[in-house]
Amino acid sequence: MIRRMAGRLGSHLGHHKDENDTSFMMLSGSSGESLHISTGVPVNMPRGSISTMTERTSLSEWSKRGDSIDMQETDKPTQQLTRRPKGTYKLVDFIIQRTLGTGSFGRVHLVQSKHNLRYYAIKVLNKEKVVKMKQIDHTNNEQRILESIQHPFIINLWGTFQDNTNLYMVMDFVPGGELFTLLRRSNRFPDPVAKFYAAEVALALDFLHSNNIIYRDLKPENVLLNVDGHIKVADFGFAKDIDTTTWTLCGTPDYLAPEIIAQSRYNKSVDWYALGVLIFEMLSGLPPYHQPDGNHVLLYQKISRGPAFIRWPNFNPFATDLILKLMEHDPSKRYGNLHSGGSDVFAHSWFREVDWEKLRNREITAPYLPKVHSEGDASAFEAYPEDNVAALYGLPADDPFGHDFPDFDYTTIPSS
Ligand code: AMP
Repeated sequence: MIRRMAGRLGSHLGHHKDENDTSFMMLSGSSGESLHISTGVPVNMPRGSISTMTERTSLSEWSKRGDSIDMQETDKPTQQLTRRPKGTYKLVDFIIQRTLGTGSFGRVHLVQSKHNLRYYAIKVLNKEKVVKMKQIDHTNNEQRILESIQHPFIINLWGTFQDNTNLYMVMDFVPGGELFTLLRRSNRFPDPVAKFYAAEVALALDFLHSNNIIYRDLKPENVLLNVDGHIKVADFGFAKDIDTTTWTLCGTPDYLAPEIIAQSRYNKSVDWYALGVLIFEMLSGLPPYHQPDGNHVLLYQKISRGPAFIRWPNFNPFATDLILKLMEHDPSKRYGNLHSGGSDVFAHSWFREVDWEKLRNREITAPYLPKVHSEGDASAFEAYPEDNVAALYGLPADDPFGHDFPDFDYTTIPSS
């Protein structure tokens, strides 16, 4: 079953993160679709996220019918999120500067506002690519969710808009770079450093869950560091507001909970599982089931067998205990998903010295202060080939996909 599923992942998944990521080899299928075959993953390369091509498709149903099926009742978003008042922005309000990161459908740019001269990050998504990779629901979820929430450890979205070709999401610029970069440079974090980041992530997850939002893509690549060293969780491309359970296969292979791999329905406990993986990776430098050859069949077999088969480094015993409780195979016994929810995690002995109230108020000094020399200093981010893509934004073009993204306003009049 796992081999079949890894094969399906290999051939059918939308690859959500980085077009330059060598963890997937892109081949062109007869239909013109991309096929992804896993290859060895250099450990210092960001890991791509994956998703079944549509929120409506279950892999098991897919294998029977060879096509997508209708969304299950419980897969519908809750519709309970209340949107914050949003700003009205348009492309000409900004001077587009360098690229901060890339994804399958576009890239994130550093931009400067022509009005207040402040720096922001704009995520630009090509509508055609989003539609072709069947990520319409995920993209609309990302917009709707980010517009509804506000939390000190979560990226702030100021507003969104679209033109004929692209969707644009205007966010705060988070200048300290990815936790991933810091971790790979440091090899591993000392116990108190890992604890600090884990505690802030735990607060962010608990906040999302209390709003019935599953995040579904926790990993160090998606945890950004603000100028004060505190975290901002970014990339809500897989986040979903849901009361009960869902079953879309998405996330990042090393961080997938066993019930996702088993193609079972799952709930927010997959985020707590991923927190266990994150703590392990921060303390040891690699995720617990790391496959140096990038073999996803073996990876999924190991995840399914559970943490008893992990070779445990010499962690603080309390850290090991918490990781085991978070990576518990049975979601009904998993920490974070028990009767008391996130409180069990907060009360765990590994976190015993954490003052949660002070942490929430950012009154605890962060262990590492990013070297940011000026506002708009993006030197903490990798350099990407610019390819002059920004010159193409806003040009006249046909617009066959605009209606798929009704919540992204047209702030300039469509020009074709
Ligand atoms: P995403 O597609 O949202 O995962 O973004 C791709 C990459 O762009 C991230 O991994 C970050 O390195 C970078 N990025 C995204 N949002 C921001 C932001 N608000 N500030 C700074 N960098 C960002």
